[in-house]
Amino acid sequence: MTSFQDFGLADAITRALREEGYQTPTPIQAQTIPFALEGRDVIGIAQTGTGKTAAFALPILHRLLERRTKVPSKTCRVVVLSPTRELSGQILDSFNAYGRHIGVTSALAIGGVPMGRQVRALMGGVEILVATPGRLIDLVQSNALKLGQVEFLVLDEADRMLDMGFINDIRKIVAKLPAKRQTLFFSATMPKDIAELASQMLQDPARVAVTPVSSTAERITQRIIQVDHAAKATHLAELLKQEPIERALVFTRTKHGADKVVKGLAKAGIASNAIHGNKSQNHRERVLAAFRSGEIRTLIATDIAARGIDVDGISHVVNFDLPNVPETYVHRIGRTARAGAEGTAISLIAGAEEMGYLRNIERLIRIALPREDRRTAREPGHREPSHRDTVATPHHRPHAARGNESVQASKGPRRRRRSGANNNAQQINRQEPRRASHGGGKSEGIQGVAVLHRESRPNNHRNRRQQPR
Ligand code: AMP
Repeated sequence: MTSFQDFGLADAITRALREEGYQTPTPIQAQTIPFALEGRDVIGIAQTGTGKTAAFALPILHRLLERRTKVPSKTCRVVVLSPTRELSGQILDSFNAYGRHIGVTSALAIGGVPMGRQVRALMGGVEILVATPGRLIDLVQSNALKLGQVEFLVLDEADRMLDMGFINDIRKIVAKLPAKRQTLFFSATMPKDIAELASQMLQDPARVAVTPVSSTAERITQRIIQVDHAAKATHLAELLKQEPIERALVFTRTKHGADKVVKGLAKAGIASNAIHGNKSQNHRERVLAAFRSGEIRTLIATDIAARGIDVDGISHVVNFDLPNVPETYVHRIGRTARAGAEGTAISLIAGAEEMGYLRNIERLIRIALPREDRRTAREPGHREPSHRDTVATPHHRPHAARGNESVQASKGPRRRRRSGANNNAQQINRQEPRRASHGGGKSEGIQGVAVLHRESRPNNHRNRRQQPR
């Protein structure tokens, strides 16, 4: 499939795509759209950045157009469930952008703000409703929304919704939907619990997949810096001063940790802002807009808050804390090197626990990452890691409480994220010459670890020595 016209999509849709600067379908779009246009259920393994939003939005818009009906009050024809308010907002923006010549009616149902506005938006019925699961249930329970007319259901980032504890909400919602519907189910990973959920919700689904999660972007330079626990903030400040940073996204494991990093950086004279579940929606939107525009160069975020943020031009991702779920590392570093750019991911590692997380990450991505050792003292019980230490990970999926779902009323189309012909994330654009992940067999600061680099392509087992930086 070389062009969007080949799918037979309505002219009004292909015109909008041209205006968006989309020339050719991405692999997930090429695989998904024909099945979805036939009315098949689809189960897709695809990460953010692969173009999966358009993969489900375009065929749904086309099918809505084929049978345009007046939507009864308090109902909708399409429900899209997504884990976070940011991602929900972006999905809604995408539907509105691709559907701009059709005049689709749409609404956002996300929590954290009073429901009044959303209730009013649903009064007249809408074609497309993008929602986080908790708020959707609240709207149904308060009789503001009936799900009996839904024709299309999309689950986006299903694995993340399960991680966030939405499984019961999703089951409740699905139980209220008509059995005769089309379901499009997307997840970045497909562990057993997700596959089970999908098998309960989908009928004879077509299976599509692009770049497995274990392939990290080839344009990302990955650096691991071993530091003393107490010196993490100092090292972060130094890095932010030394590195040629356009935009840096710094990840912490906790909300409290994010705030602490902001304070620590402020002491070192570096301005930054944090977004996490305790911040108001207004604050988050303001900070994100400033980050997008370049006004804020350094953004500190927790994984949940950062989910779904699609900002091009992030030159650096810094893991202030390493995540305990290895796939999360891949999600995090995928925030850089988007839209054909190159990027750097730097992880600050302290202590045996984080070293264990690192080994699990290396096993997942199949790359032994070189360590730069900047510790002044050895941690108790420390031993030098070896590549062989990389161990099997029981897939550890913490189920966080839903309390973190923060949400807000629909405001209609919001600022459209940057897009364009080149705006493909790492999974989309792989033609560029491969670049070794950061190297230096024993470059500055690396002590005692002879590291062989393995190509990031999972099937390529050619080892080669790290190139000096
Ligand atoms: P997504 O994975 O849906 O979040 O999309 C990632 C980015 O790719 C977004 O900025 C989209 O606007 C962009 N995009 C999606 N499909 C295409 C395409 N066929 N050509 C160019 N850019 C695209």
